[in-house]
Amino acid sequence: MSERFFITTPPDGDRAVLAGDEARHLTRVLRAKVGDTVSLFDGTGREWPARVASLGRDRVELDAGKPAIDSLPAAIPLTLAVALPKGDRQKWMVEKLTELGAARLVPLETTRGVAEATASAQARLERVVIEACKQCGRNTLMEISAGRPLDRLLAEVPAGACVVIAHPGGKPLAADIVPPTATAIIGLVGPEGGFTDEELGVADRAGVVRVSLGHHILRVETAAITLAARLAG
Ligand code: SAM
Repeated sequence: MSERFFITTPPDGDRAVLAGDEARHLTRVLRAKVGDTVSLFDGTGREWPARVASLGRDRVELDAGKPAIDSLPAAIPLTLAVALPKGDRQKWMVEKLTELGAARLVPLETTRGVAEATASAQARLERVVIEACKQCGRNTLMEISAGRPLDRLLAEVPAGACVVIAHPGGKPLAADIVPPTATAIIGLVGPEGGFTDEELGVADRAGVVRVSLGHHILRVETAAITLAARLAG
């Protein structure tokens, strides 16, 4: 696979432009030259072969070919709603969820949560998603939604979705937990201190299934990645 770059707007005819971080990566880190070939993706599933046409300080122009790959999203989109861990653990989790094909991450605002889902945190995580997509060959971005509390998230669940909440002592997570008719899958993961009884009650009343991920207590990011690996279609 050639080096991959994220474009915020698709090529205009056969002319594509890289700006900002992506342009600097190509010029300063990879020291590209006119004529070098790369791949471009715009996060919607399309990928273009491209050749460097001109190099500026913070802007690179490229000649783009026809879209070569149209990567398909998972048959049943998977959302992880997670009480975010802090710092590097948060970034690591987002990288792995992107690699595993999750469609969306919703930062879950919980009583015992430790990290705030601010707009700047959201922007930082979106950058992590782009880097992970560049590295793993994924052409659709994982969406990072604005944070919301459990009751609001559950009120927005679309008809036909299968929702599970990871909680120690829940029902073992078996392959048949997702009915074949499910239109979406949503996995909920609590903070280091766990969900409160009140939050578990909200989930119970909404008919959410409690699932166990084994005998050991997993850190938030391990639980989120385990759920994604087990539930991703
Ligand atoms: N003492 C907390 C409790 O009992 O819930 C532990 C919280 S754990 C560090 C953080 C989150 O990861 C939990 O709220 C849960 O969503 C998920 N989790 C961790 N280990 C799990 C397991 N073995 N089974 C199911 N969920 C788990």
